[in-house]
Amino acid sequence: MIDQHMYDLGAAPNKIRELFMYGLGRKAQIGADKVYDYSIGNPSVPAPPQVRKAFLDLLDEDPVKTHEYTPSPGDPAVREAIAQHISKTNGVEARASNVYITSGASSAIAISLCAITNPGDEVVTMSPYFPEYKTWTETARCTLVEVPAAEPSFQMDLDAIEAAINGRTSAVILNTPNNPTGAVYPREALEGLADMLRRKETELGRKIFLISDEPYRELVYGAEVAYIPSLYDDTIVCYTWSKSLSLPGERIGYIHVNEAIEGDDAVFTAVSGAGRALGYICAPVLLQRVVARCLDVPADVSEYAKNREVLTRMLRGIGYEFVEPDGAFYLWMRSLEPDAEAFSERAKQFELLLVPSNSFGCPGWVRLSYCIAEKTIRESEHALRALYESYQA
Ligand code: PLP
Repeated sequence: MIDQHMYDLGAAPNKIRELFMYGLGRKAQIGADKVYDYSIGNPSVPAPPQVRKAFLDLLDEDPVKTHEYTPSPGDPAVREAIAQHISKTNGVEARASNVYITSGASSAIAISLCAITNPGDEVVTMSPYFPEYKTWTETARCTLVEVPAAEPSFQMDLDAIEAAINGRTSAVILNTPNNPTGAVYPREALEGLADMLRRKETELGRKIFLISDEPYRELVYGAEVAYIPSLYDDTIVCYTWSKSLSLPGERIGYIHVNEAIEGDDAVFTAVSGAGRALGYICAPVLLQRVVARCLDVPADVSEYAKNREVLTRMLRGIGYEFVEPDGAFYLWMRSLEPDAEAFSERAKQFELLLVPSNSFGCPGWVRLSYCIAEKTIRESEHALRALYESYQA
């Protein structure tokens, strides 16, 4: 007998993938240059040359060692290199024994949730949010509690987050820079969140972990991205090189259990247990060693910065309302009708692929991924204008 919950998950439509697949079909029909595909967050910047060199060098080394199993949490030398990098970058003392290497941020978050919750617990996050948070939380047999961000800035609503926390809350998932809004939470707001969580921990007599989901840490346009573990002790960082090194299909990231957590050893042991239980052991070895050789390679945001400028200027000129994106490569735009799905459907008539906000647990907006060719953005102007004008009649 198949598991009904797993069947339902497998059968549930993923709007982003659905639009992406629709776009592939449409491009085959009418030509790739006629479709303005803002659907998916696949980096458009090539992986840096250091990545290629690391791959090639590794392939020339001992062929047995190159493809060997590593210990479940990763190659000790790579864990050490990551810990040193975290320490150097953030002025802290991270330990290799607190680093668990994963297949991207997805497995990092799924593992962390299983490690630090018990069935029936609640996990709080701000909506709109990365849709898989719900899947991973429910897989850990917990409930995801969605707290709407403050419109129209889509910054954190601290009072609302506080109101959602109770004796069953075991974690808050935080994502800054944010997918899908492009918002970056300022340091003062994060300090406010940390103060509130500390107060709640004392009041409720239980640990509330902050899971900091950081795929876009380096992708910012001038904004500061505070180092969350230095603001709040009970933090677990989930990092990935999917976006910073443009390696989304290679599946490589890590979990860092903050050393300041009281009982961090036990938390790390639970992380290892969850990794084992979920089958996420020994992340791809070649990639472990590739990223270890590229830790100091800076993310190239110049292309995204240019795209952001072109797109925001264009949308402002037409008359759309949107959140000024401070980070990541997403733009959050208000739908021209309350039903974002209907708006996204109408956009298709103009060959524009915009993801409706319902996919992220929030009505009335759409997400545009601007990690695409600048030319496509420029050429989409007439379609965006025609879509806008179709609502003015
Ligand atoms: N979290 C957020 C906010 C994301 O945007 C993504 C990917 O787009 C992930 C997690 C998953 O990252 P990965 O592809 O490294 O598993």
